[in-house]
Amino acid sequence: MDAARPIMNEPPDLAPEAGARDTPIAAAEGGRVTPMMEQYIEIKAANPGCLLFYRMGDFYELFFDDAEVASRALGIVLTKRGKHLGRDIPMCGVPIERADEYLHRLIALGHRVAVCEQLEDPAEARKRGAKSVVRRDVVRLVTPGTLTEDSLLDAKRNNYLLALARSRASSTEDRFALAWIDISTGDFRVAECERTGIAAEVARIEPGEVIVSDALYADAELAPYLGSLPALTPLARDVFDGATAERRLATFFGVATSEAFGAFSRIELTAAAAAVTYIERTQIGKHPPLSPPVREAAGATLSIDQATRSNLELIRTISGERRGSLLSAIDRTITAAGSRLLAQRLAAPLTDPVEIAHRLDAVAAFVDDSGPRNDLRRDLKAVPDLARALSRIVIGRGGPRDLAAIRDGIFAAAEFSARLTALANIPRDLAQAVESLRRPEATLADQLGRALGEELPAFRRDGGFVRTGYEPGLDEARALRDESRRVIAALQVRYAETTGIRSLKIRHNNVLGYFVDVTAQNGEKLMSAPLNATFIHRQTTAGQVRFTTTELGELEAKIANAADRALAIELEIFDRLAASVTAASAAIKEAADALAAVDVTAALASLAVERDYARPDVDDSLAFAISGGRHPVVEQALGSDGGPFVANDCDLSAGRIWLVTGPNMAGKSTFLRQNALIAVLAQMGSFVPARAAHIGAVDRLFSRVGAADDLARGRSTFMVEMVETAAILNQAGERALVILDEIGRGTATFDGLSIAWATIEHLHEVNRCRALFATHFHEMTALAAKLPRLHNATMRVKEWHGEVVFLHEVVDGAADRSYGIQVAKLAGLPPSVIERAKLVLAQLEAQDRTSPAHRLIDDLPLFAATRPTATPQRDDAFTALLEALATLHPDEMSPRDALEALYALKAQLGKARP
Ligand code: ADP
Ligand code: MG
Repeated sequence: MDAARPIMNEPPDLAPEAGARDTPIAAAEGGRVTPMMEQYIEIKAANPGCLLFYRMGDFYELFFDDAEVASRALGIVLTKRGKHLGRDIPMCGVPIERADEYLHRLIALGHRVAVCEQLEDPAEARKRGAKSVVRRDVVRLVTPGTLTEDSLLDAKRNNYLLALARSRASSTEDRFALAWIDISTGDFRVAECERTGIAAEVARIEPGEVIVSDALYADAELAPYLGSLPALTPLARDVFDGATAERRLATFFGVATSEAFGAFSRIELTAAAAAVTYIERTQIGKHPPLSPPVREAAGATLSIDQATRSNLELIRTISGERRGSLLSAIDRTITAAGSRLLAQRLAAPLTDPVEIAHRLDAVAAFVDDSGPRNDLRRDLKAVPDLARALSRIVIGRGGPRDLAAIRDGIFAAAEFSARLTALANIPRDLAQAVESLRRPEATLADQLGRALGEELPAFRRDGGFVRTGYEPGLDEARALRDESRRVIAALQVRYAETTGIRSLKIRHNNVLGYFVDVTAQNGEKLMSAPLNATFIHRQTTAGQVRFTTTELGELEAKIANAADRALAIELEIFDRLAASVTAASAAIKEAADALAAVDVTAALASLAVERDYARPDVDDSLAFAISGGRHPVVEQALGSDGGPFVANDCDLSAGRIWLVTGPNMAGKSTFLRQNALIAVLAQMGSFVPARAAHIGAVDRLFSRVGAADDLARGRSTFMVEMVETAAILNQAGERALVILDEIGRGTATFDGLSIAWATIEHLHEVNRCRALFATHFHEMTALAAKLPRLHNATMRVKEWHGEVVFLHEVVDGAADRSYGIQVAKLAGLPPSVIERAKLVLAQLEAQDRTSPAHRLIDDLPLFAATRPTATPQRDDAFTALLEALATLHPDEMSPRDALEALYALKAQLGKARP
């Protein structure tokens, strides 16, 4: 990419090409291609896979297929403009002031857009000859993973671009690495991962866009998964070239070698380089202020796969909403950056007890000291989104309000650091924040403060953002401009007098500039002698006639000159300020991150106090002892409409498995999930909804629900359940925490019971992990007699006058019956059906008093997982048959040969059969 090519920082406010929208872009005769169409086709070809927004005056125009796609996607009118090679050119247009809105919709639909600007004033082009075309080029590719504008982003969420790289390690296993960047905040991380871990990592990061090499895109095993991602961009091999990776990365950061960032494996460097190369290509040479890449060590975060994430509703509910999720239940952050950081921490809880303790220390400091916490939280309300403003400024897409955000952010950071220093016994994480908050120079904020006015426009091209008195040259130009405006007002009064037309007005629009405006009646008068010597007719509209005069023309030129000069000076000042900000970007970014961390810490403390959460004790043991645990989301939901939440204990220490039985609606699922959520909260560094919690750090968390609906993916629910259970039994080790909710529900009773039975045995004997297993098969409670670490727990219910009352209390023991009929009654089944069901049940129970499970437990030897079942041996005849089949080459056979070969194979099969 040629970084030296001339590009403008923002859509330049160039005068429209004379009548741009009315000029045919291609000539009709003889299929000749006009110069403009030639330019369009060249630019379009250079940006494959993108819709081309081709700037013409105040519009971005789309042509040909692009126009058809966009008009359909955006619901805008499809028109025709001129002909190309004898055929009509379809066209549609987007006014520049609404471009963001349309971009947003196109990106959301998965399109990529190349934004092509005019790179010179049309007047310049005309100097080269009447037929010459305004120079244009693409200044930016807008893709889902590389957005910076507030209007295109969700303030509370990171928007990551993720690069997935593979190295073909000779004949052994492939190795993979991920690099992910949020260019709107500068976050940049890298991690290695195994093939089987890719989906879980991507689920954690939730990238807005994933890039892979063409070769990986074609990988047979990964293709279906990659294809299911919402925004996937395959790229040519060179982007993922390992040989040049280190150099590309070092060049991007302007350092001699990438060792400056720490030790990275070659495959990590490849992924990181791919991500920055893609950013360079989409930003066309603009360098966003990225933090140096941070390496995430394997196993540093709690591994949670996609099914578990959605099942536990960590970031959003199963139906996709933020409301009702764990995140929304615990989010007390004040700033958008804080909200993003909280979501990051929740998506990636830690596994190192020491790091977790540091985070908890910081939260504890604020829990103990409510005075400073409340003051801090009050003042956080005024803190701007420093990271995103910084990113826009550095990348050349910022406006005056972003400069003001930097100013306010730096002042706030200094203020917060002073206040935190006042805290007694400041814990490590907050001490680090204090240091970071001090980093940006106050002089930069002072400089911005002196330069910027009070009321700031959205765009720098609007002008008027520099304070009067900041630069004498600017004040002069503005005075001249305003003075001339007063002269125009005087001129209007004079013209009204000399013509005797009291309603005469001098107005301004973009097409005519300044003009004298009178009604049609009065127009006659100005067009006849003697007034027609002064007033020159310009335009007649429905009710008005418009004129100009020599004097007005001269004044207009003067005003335009002064205004142009004032704007030029302002833009120069803007660039100067932006350059100072860019020079300080590393320090500003660090302060921004520290502000977010302070917000999250104070927010978690506030939550802990508000909801009475306790500090968990997380260590290296295999403990899992929760006393008085509650479900953080259900508890809050109940809080608002009555009923108290019943707290429950749970002890899974040292690989214990709790088998929880009880009727429907008794609270089994709630109990299971609350324990998983408590582990997640503890390891992200939050206090937890419990009286006390002792947790040996969990390395992998699994949660599955029997017969969950997964119609969207088109798999049978039972199949999904089994695929997911298989994943757990194959992956969970002794540090894992496994939650299985009614596995085996999706099939016939005996099948389901058998599968649930064997699963428990496997968890107990092979995985040896901490687990909770809810089931409505109470037969399974018999297993506790054989499995020493299996503990039976049940939900207490009371029967009262034939009604079932749920106490939501978990107690030792087994449910003796499922109360299905009582639940059915609660649900409003007709009384006749309930009575009949009771009769049938009594019959069945009389017939089968001796539960089959008791016989099972005695008759079946215990699950023998350590003894692998031998793979069936293929006999020789069968092998010979396979070999015969392998030698056939259908493409080279005549139909007759093929038929004969088929007969021969059939004959051989006859022999191979026993
Ligand atoms: P199950 O899985 O046994 O069918 P759920 O866990 O779905 O039952 O719980 C059913 C409902 O009972 C929940 O939606 C909740 O409103 C209520 N509930 C569950 N646990 C408790 C509890 N500990 N305290 C109060 N209400 C609870
Ligand atoms: Mg349930």
